[in-house]
Amino acid sequence: MRSPLVPLATLIGRELRNEKVERPCVKYGQAGLAKKGEDYFLIKTDCQRVPGDSSTLFSVYAIFDGHNGISAAIFAKESLLNNVMSAIPQDISREEWLQTLPRALVVGFVKTDIEFQQKGETSGTTATFVLIDGWTVTVASVGDSRCILDTQGGVVSLLTVDHRLEENAEERERVTASGGEVGRLNVFGGNEVGPLRCWPGGLCLSRSIGDTDVGEFIVPIPHVKQVKLSNAGGRLIIASDGIWDALSSDMAAKSCRGLPAELAAKLVVKEALRSRGLKDDTTCLVVDIIPSDHSVLPPTPRKKHNMLTSFLFGKKSQYSATKGTNKLSAVGIVEELFEDGSAILVERLGKDFPVNSNLGIFRCAVCQADQTPTDGLVVNSGPFFSPASKPWEGPFLCTNCRKKKDAMEGKRPSRPILTA
Ligand SMILES: [Zn+2]
Repeated sequence: MRSPLVPLATLIGRELRNEKVERPCVKYGQAGLAKKGEDYFLIKTDCQRVPGDSSTLFSVYAIFDGHNGISAAIFAKESLLNNVMSAIPQDISREEWLQTLPRALVVGFVKTDIEFQQKGETSGTTATFVLIDGWTVTVASVGDSRCILDTQGGVVSLLTVDHRLEENAEERERVTASGGEVGRLNVFGGNEVGPLRCWPGGLCLSRSIGDTDVGEFIVPIPHVKQVKLSNAGGRLIIASDGIWDALSSDMAAKSCRGLPAELAAKLVVKEALRSRGLKDDTTCLVVDIIPSDHSVLPPTPRKKHNMLTSFLFGKKSQYSATKGTNKLSAVGIVEELFEDGSAILVERLGKDFPVNSNLGIFRCAVCQADQTPTDGLVVNSGPFFSPASKPWEGPFLCTNCRKKKDAMEGKRPSRPILTA
């Protein structure tokens, strides 16, 4: 079944007037097989941007692949969404909400990590956290649980970055510069085996939530990417490394094209097991963002159609340079709105962070705790906290969150924060 043809002039007119395009229908499927039982996932389809207003629905899909135990994965699953939402100001428009999301995701990830550290447990987890609002998809991720996007032109692109020391030279450099040692496991006889790991701790990932027993330069600051799909829709496949160690992004996408999401998730898992066997926890979420007049994701359209969508939606953003993946904007089916993967907290919070200085009380940009400026001024002297005579130059951080920031940058010896 094909949609009726709409004259080009009408389409352009709609786009120019920013006329409300109908919201898509979102369908999902989940499948998995446990080996160690450390994979967790979250599906929440009834989130509301404005509590009590059902016209402001958005949905969340996430995967948490735990290691050295399950407590970090469970904690992140239970806390992350709330911690992200509490970092977004109330009473803002949908457009402002979407623009604030990338920063709120950074805050939510860091806050969740600090809270978990305070529990004094040592497990860790990846977190790949996807928010869908209309045609806009925002993905925040630490670790190696990938999210891919299969669009209507048959183009598969990666919305996450693998934070694996073995495969990410930039992260190796950052970890080494912050005081970590990167090397392989030495077995009896001095032979080096396995993937590159960070010492102390021996973790293969360069970013995660939890992991209080490794250096704090293993940061919880997520890579964030936000894209807007054309109203032809697309399919997301979010999965733990049990899938990605067996299948490339292309193989996973191709193995389930044209099938409903529920069946698609099962097929991706089956395909991964067929090629590799059950070596690791294997979890897969498939999420279809479908035009509301379709019941399944429509089949790949002809090339001509691609050129049309490319003309309409192929806006390049300043953040479009992603190494080693297909450039979404080069194909033009998807509009790239935002991408940032910096591991430096203050860069991610930005200089225009809203400062709540009413009544002489300042709110920490990360944990949202209020401090009086006298407390803050004493402990927060430094480049991000100016003397009273000067205007603010950056976000206010409370004592605790400032310690965390310094530890993540390798500026103070890493150790768990034990006091609130
Ligand atoms: Zn704080």
